[in-house]
Amino acid sequence: MANIPYKIYLEESEMPRQWYNVRADMKKKPAPLLNPGTGQPCTADELKHVFCDELVAQELNETDRFIDIPDEIRSFYKMYRPSPLVRAYCLEKKLGTPAKIYYKFEGNNTSGSHKLNSAIAQAYYAKKQGLKGVTTETGAGQWGTALSMACSYFDLDCKVYMVKVSYEQKPFRREVMRTYGASVTPSPSNTTEVGKRILAEFPNTGGSLGCAISEAVEAATTTEGYRYVLGSVLSQVLLHQSVIGMETKAAMDKYGIKPDIIIGCAGGGSNLGGLISPFMGEKLRGEADYRFIAVEPASCPSFTRGKYAYDFCDTGKVCPLQKMYTLGSGFMPSPNHAGGLRYHGMSAILSELYDQGLMEARSVEQTSVFEAAQMFARVEGTLPAPESSHAIRAAIDEALRCKETGEEKTILFGLTGTGYFDMYAYAAYNDGTMTDYIPTDEEIAASLANLPNIG
Ligand SMILES: *Cc1c(COP(=O)(O)O)cnc(C)c1O
Repeated sequence: MANIPYKIYLEESEMPRQWYNVRADMKKKPAPLLNPGTGQPCTADELKHVFCDELVAQELNETDRFIDIPDEIRSFYKMYRPSPLVRAYCLEKKLGTPAKIYYKFEGNNTSGSHKLNSAIAQAYYAKKQGLKGVTTETGAGQWGTALSMACSYFDLDCKVYMVKVSYEQKPFRREVMRTYGASVTPSPSNTTEVGKRILAEFPNTGGSLGCAISEAVEAATTTEGYRYVLGSVLSQVLLHQSVIGMETKAAMDKYGIKPDIIIGCAGGGSNLGGLISPFMGEKLRGEADYRFIAVEPASCPSFTRGKYAYDFCDTGKVCPLQKMYTLGSGFMPSPNHAGGLRYHGMSAILSELYDQGLMEARSVEQTSVFEAAQMFARVEGTLPAPESSHAIRAAIDEALRCKETGEEKTILFGLTGTGYFDMYAYAAYNDGTMTDYIPTDEEIAASLANLPNIG
């Protein structure tokens, strides 16, 4: 095999024309979304009050293996895709490992993360339906930024509810969103009934993703011509993000590379789900085997310490119930945790795959994540997002294990974004003031005690 270049790019003509729907190859499918009022599976009509019609169809589609990417979306993808697959030669050398390390870098766009892959798809379907606009929540700000870019491209109004701590700590993200024409409201706010209720109960709260979701859903369902869109967790988002895995697989196949271990950080599961989907498909069909590792923060450990149960997707309990690994919808992650990955639940698809033992999960502490981030930045050049750095941590740990055993494993990880807007967190790490927070068993048990009572 010829030498592997530092960066493997696909030609425009080799870019995927279809998204891959991993549910089609799952023998046991994820559990259906339930209507919180009736406890029965949500119908398409019920979901259409909240989500765009075509996205509802995608959410409920468990059978079509491939779904065509519309030309308008492919044209937008072509502005920043294909994203590079990078051979981390410098990191390998620094670690002195016999392992071969690759990463798929999704930070090469203004929003700075993979989230644009789904934002553009969701904005497209909203526009096609003739809607005026969409509402959403954003935590660290990447999703809101991506969605505001996508909405301005299709001339849609965009209302973003931003978790209050991030709104205050990340003024630059807020301004990027406003530059692209979005309106940004700190959550919880007085603009919705659910926001007022949460403020009355927790006047000093810095907010949470679950609570911002409730506000965005309420705003969408009470405003004519608006629907709600979500940047992670949902199966439609994993579908759109499969473009990451499809490109990666095409690029690896081109050079005859087969990964042994595939690693991704897991917040709501969309980048990990998107990266692993085509590889997981091969595993599900018995064509190949891979190890998949989800990496989550020790401060918000949905997979490793949560429970597989039906739960609300939001604090306000207005969204459908989803069966997933969850810490309870009232779980408020410690404010000392930087960046995203703070969501209490997890993608239903990944939850089911994990429950079936097809995937592993581990949690890592924040300071060790930043240690990995710093090492990566210094040798590979790119300043990684704190979220992505969870995957870097695990990739480094696996590469160091190979160093001990002498195994020449091929490790692939998702580098989901850049960390330019996370410099307060880097500052805390550089100053030595960053701390690790791990919730106690009692805290998690108290939150899980409030799970809805559904079999
Ligand atoms: C949002 C985000 C994540 C986590 O979200 P997933 O849905 O779990 O992929 C990871 N990395 C970056 C850079 C993000 O912006």
